[in-house]
Amino acid sequence: MKNLWNTYKTTIYRNCTVLSISQNSVYYWKNQLFAATVTFLIPMSIIVLVPGIYMAYKFSVTGMILSDFITLATILAVAFVPGISVFLRKLLFNGALYTTSVVMLHYLGSNGPGLLYMFAITIFVLVSLDQQYGYLTLMLNTLICIYFGLALYYGFASSILLNEYQLDSWIAVSSNLVFLSGIAVFLIPKLFNGLQSAFEEQEQLKDKLEDSVENLNTKNEELEQFAYTISHDLKEPLRMVRSFMELLKKKYEGKLDRKAHEYIHYAVDGAQRMGNNIDDLLEYSRIGRKYTTVELTDLNSLVGGILKNLKPDIEESKAEISIGNLPTLHVVPVTMKIFFQNLLANALKYQPDGQQPVISIEAEEKDHCWQFSITDNGIGIDPTYHDQVFAIFKRLHTRDEFSGSGMGLAICKKIVEQHLGDIWVESNKDKGSIFSFTITKQYLQNKRVSARH
Ligand code: ADP
Repeated sequence: MKNLWNTYKTTIYRNCTVLSISQNSVYYWKNQLFAATVTFLIPMSIIVLVPGIYMAYKFSVTGMILSDFITLATILAVAFVPGISVFLRKLLFNGALYTTSVVMLHYLGSNGPGLLYMFAITIFVLVSLDQQYGYLTLMLNTLICIYFGLALYYGFASSILLNEYQLDSWIAVSSNLVFLSGIAVFLIPKLFNGLQSAFEEQEQLKDKLEDSVENLNTKNEELEQFAYTISHDLKEPLRMVRSFMELLKKKYEGKLDRKAHEYIHYAVDGAQRMGNNIDDLLEYSRIGRKYTTVELTDLNSLVGGILKNLKPDIEESKAEISIGNLPTLHVVPVTMKIFFQNLLANALKYQPDGQQPVISIEAEEKDHCWQFSITDNGIGIDPTYHDQVFAIFKRLHTRDEFSGSGMGLAICKKIVEQHLGDIWVESNKDKGSIFSFTITKQYLQNKRVSARH
């Protein structure tokens, strides 16, 4: 049964629509509406036809029975006969129904729905065809009303309508039809024109967006090239500083005093750190640009892998780490790894001397996002610096106290933003820290869009 209905529907849609028209056009939707009307009208008209024919037979109006059958046959032809243009099908369809309404008017007068049908078909002409056919229908409506008016006045035709109406009441009723059809003919096309402009605007915006995305991709590639070249070129002189310092040290071994060795050490160390900073900056610039492949990722095993990397630090400090039940989500695994690695390494690192680190990772599903938190019992952060710690190269300690470059949390912030989320810290000095972050469900749903970032 379902298959039969599908074949029936597909045949009508194939005949009554133009496949090549884009969806961004009023004509496309006009055709869709026409095909849908034909699809549903055929079974409906068969249902209506049975009592209609019975009543027509009972009151001996054979002309109506004939007209009903001709109309049904025309609609069937419109739906199923191949090789007719969609435009001609629309003309035939509207013409057949229009004729039925005039026949009804003729035979049934105000007992039947003739005038109502005429108005309904005027609207359908406007919905399925262009405005000029609306004008034509308005003209026909007017002529038919005038014809019946003249017939009433001069008595030159006989019909139930003419028996029922007085001339003045006919003028009152029929002028309403003409008036309403006129309003429809003027106003409905305005709606379609508005829709068409909206479609065109949307099409233009789509083109612009595609151009911008293409532009962005080119710029990204250029930037990647630029970043790579810069880092390569900047590291070259650094390598020279380092190797000449090493040479200096080797060549003048024993001739240089302790102070000179100390200075050489600082110079080498500075060059080394600058090299690291350049690497970190390159990594930072790549997040959201180069690493964009989204995958369904089990965060439990992702964090498990990171704990393996951090094993030496964990064992040395005898850290106690508990992991809650983490979800499996669509994320960029490469950046998510960097993210958890940075936060966990910090939680292990920023501890008072000799203290056993106690760290926990939890995840909670909220209305619009997944919220994660990493809690530690470390040295904490004064609230004054809560925002600043996420800035590039921002450090709260000297390198003698804790090693680091100040890029870890800046990178984390960028990764969270890539996942359309947020990151913040709740902490007080000497009271441990809770780093919380979110991944919005909007990101998880539109992962393909975000993956283009
Ligand atoms: P880095 O660790 O390389 O210095 P980060 O960007 O990771 O750089 O951190 C910035 C600063 O934030 C750190 O210098 C440190 O002072 C502070 N910080 C980060 N994580 C913690 C933590 N878990 N507990 C206390 N302080 C932290």
